[in-house]
Amino acid sequence: MLLVTFLGTGGSLPTKNRNPSAIMVNRDGELIMFDCGEGAQQQMMRAKTGMMNLSSIFITHFHADHILGIPGLVQTMSFQGRTEPLTIYGPEWVEEFVKLLSALGYYKLKFEIRAAKMERGDVVRMDGYSVVALQTQHNVRSIGYALVEDPRPGRFDRKKAVELGVPVGPLFSKLHKGEDVEVDGRTIRSEDVVGESRPGRTIIYTGDTRPCKDVLEASENADLLIHDGTLADEKLEWAKEAMHSTAGEAAALARKAGVKKLVLTHISSRYSDDVTPLMNDAKAIFEDVIIAEDLMSIEVPFRDE
Ligand SMILES: [Zn+2]
Ligand SMILES: [Zn+2]
Repeated sequence: MLLVTFLGTGGSLPTKNRNPSAIMVNRDGELIMFDCGEGAQQQMMRAKTGMMNLSSIFITHFHADHILGIPGLVQTMSFQGRTEPLTIYGPEWVEEFVKLLSALGYYKLKFEIRAAKMERGDVVRMDGYSVVALQTQHNVRSIGYALVEDPRPGRFDRKKAVELGVPVGPLFSKLHKGEDVEVDGRTIRSEDVVGESRPGRTIIYTGDTRPCKDVLEASENADLLIHDGTLADEKLEWAKEAMHSTAGEAAALARKAGVKKLVLTHISSRYSDDVTPLMNDAKAIFEDVIIAEDLMSIEVPFRDE
């Protein structure tokens, strides 16, 4: 399972339909978040994502609309008896932020919050995947993230294994995992019955940014690109000034990188009633695009499925 749930999709200001930025990723039951804007925990309840299996929060930058959900969320988790540590990753200032968080209000948390500073190229190893920091371009220090799954074993040739005399059962899974096995004194090699390893899935999340090189490179052939799409193309000058992207710019990057699917998020409040201008700009350049909505979920399939 690789399920992405958009808890907040608004740009800078919440509106009645959109909370500020927050994205939950559920990978085989482990939860991680990218940004955690105000109101994120109630959105988790509405989307029924759960919160106790949350291991990490990856912050793109310390503008309020990307972090204000954290104080309330950690208090709730403490109240509910969490003891597992939580790691907050982010650019410079993440240590100070975690210190402030721990000093905020008259409460003592029942679990530890760890701060981990990330810079371009830093890699966090998780169980079966990595999260890599990308350099983005915003008006404060900012990073984006790539979630990159480890390669999967190749396809198992069941017919061939049977032909080679391997009895159906546990030896199959050993062979599939790359181990050679003995059958009646003969060695059956894994590589004889398992095809070439297949790529895992990749998700890119930009946070707030102008279109930039690092995101383009990381997005090459990505399964899902979640890009800043704050404004329509007619507001390009404004997007440049505020260091955001237009829908058309994000679509052009998606097309160049050859991503499978593009989701635009951080939608300006000026489009709260009608996202048609954004959709038109993006669709003119890249077909497989969605404008994110709060509480929307997307399952990311393997490419060969
Ligand atoms: Zn923002
Ligand atoms: Zn920002």
